[in-house]
Amino acid sequence: MRAVSRPSPERIRAIAQETGFDLVRFGPADPGKHGDRFLAWLEAGRHGEMHYLADNKERIVDPTKWRAGVRSAIALAVDYGGPAGELPGGGRVARYAVGRDYHRWLRDRVFQLRTKLEAAGLPFGSMNGGADAVPVLERALAVRAGIGFLAKSAMVISPTHGPYLQLAELLTGEELPPDPPAPGSCGTCTACLQACPTGAITAPFEIDARRCLSYTTIEQRGFVAPELRAAQGDWLFGCDVCLEVCPFTSMSRRAVAIGDDRPADLRPHRIVQTWALVDVLAMDEQRYEAEFTGTAMRRATRSGLRRNAAVVLGNRGDDAALPALLTALADGDPVVRGHAAWAVGQIAPGHEGLESARRREEDGRVREEIERAMDVS
Ligand code: SF4
Ligand code: SF4
Repeated sequence: MRAVSRPSPERIRAIAQETGFDLVRFGPADPGKHGDRFLAWLEAGRHGEMHYLADNKERIVDPTKWRAGVRSAIALAVDYGGPAGELPGGGRVARYAVGRDYHRWLRDRVFQLRTKLEAAGLPFGSMNGGADAVPVLERALAVRAGIGFLAKSAMVISPTHGPYLQLAELLTGEELPPDPPAPGSCGTCTACLQACPTGAITAPFEIDARRCLSYTTIEQRGFVAPELRAAQGDWLFGCDVCLEVCPFTSMSRRAVAIGDDRPADLRPHRIVQTWALVDVLAMDEQRYEAEFTGTAMRRATRSGLRRNAAVVLGNRGDDAALPALLTALADGDPVVRGHAAWAVGQIAPGHEGLESARRREEDGRVREEIERAMDVS
């Protein structure tokens, strides 16, 4: 019988790099001690409304529970670092979300890689793709495989590429030789803990997602706690502050490609290039469907994006936004009305438009927001 030929680890690495992954490492398929930390984090309720994490916890800490026989992870990373995403006239978008939806392009690359590896001799069906397609602790697998070290910001930092990494993985039943841990650590640095606008990094390696803007502006539905709104600053979607202040960002050896040199998937979407915050605030369902389909920003929902736009307009304090915010006081979405009231209160406390909105408002939560915004004492 002819022996089945398998691609060597070097060949797997080369194929993955040809497919567009900047970093390729091999490690165990399970998260090890990071699984226990994850369970304790869930137990403390720090996942907020991300119920899918609690619902899948057993499979997340033990990947063999959803796919028997997986042994190794081919850990993958794409460095997406680049210019800040900023709408004309203000409103920032986290770098990972300025282009095409990463779920799509990253998954495309993972599936391309799987197809190529199968063609090269890794057994058909032995691998399962990541990039949020399967429930795994991506950061833990990346750290265990040596993509980078776990930083105090709870991000994975590559000593060569820095912290702007999109992580993905293929899990396989093959036994692949594990790579050594990545060198480096945060050392005595605490820049991200000090710079986080909401205090979400409660201690080194500890994130309270309920306070993190990457949660409140994206995953959270409904009203955002008033005490977090000013801290949101100019962030329309997500937040990059803990990455921007990290010294490993400037130490990254990768030259950042800009303009047409940037891979097509990472180039800023026309929303980021041409929309104003008031356009986001005013967009109807039809415009949302037409423009946001295929972007990662869609994750926040139309209601969430309009809410976020109201908060940022309030934080910017620009009188020119008042007409759009006053119009939003009559919106059909109570979340938009409530945050528009807050924003009017930031720009023009006690504005007469608030009183007429209060008189017609039937939603108790929104009325409270309006009354707070009217309070000029
Ligand atoms: S993403 Fe922003 S809010 Fe969240 S931990 Fe980092 S700096 Fe803080
Ligand atoms: S800013 Fe400093 S402490 Fe925070 S992740 Fe970067 S190196 Fe670590």
